[in-house]
Amino acid sequence: MGKKMSENTVVELEELIRGNDVLLADRRSKTSQLQTLGRRLFSALLRKKKKVLEAETGVSVYASHDYSGMSCGPYRFYYGYEYTVCQTHGAGPCDCEDSEWAFVAWRGEDELLRIPASKLDTRLEVEMALLHGVGQFIKQFLVVEEVTL
Ligand SMILES: [Zn+2]
Repeated sequence: MGKKMSENTVVELEELIRGNDVLLADRRSKTSQLQTLGRRLFSALLRKKKKVLEAETGVSVYASHDYSGMSCGPYRFYYGYEYTVCQTHGAGPCDCEDSEWAFVAWRGEDELLRIPASKLDTRLEVEMALLHGVGQFIKQFLVVEEVTL
């Protein structure tokens, strides 16, 4: 009698454990699904915020690990791999070892300025090079007089 109860208890415990395993696996799966949904929702909110900001300010910025850019009004600025300056082949797209990534500024379709990476601050992220290029653009094209306070 006692032995049978003990066997029943073991079987019951095993079923309980299996049930818990299923429950745990189910919870892990649901947690993972919730995390994925959360990441997607967060990304969607960031994309929406970006669109709202672009509409409100007329300024658009973007960046990845190998390029960055900004557009504001008729001006566009870019730094990264898509535009190069090559000592051998000039400003056309070039993959040779003499080519460098470049900062480019446009007004409408007109390219106003192209600066090779060697003349930009590229110490940190691509945004730093973009910012340095925009600074050089402002100095060259927009600063018409020095103001002394
Ligand atoms: Zn080249």
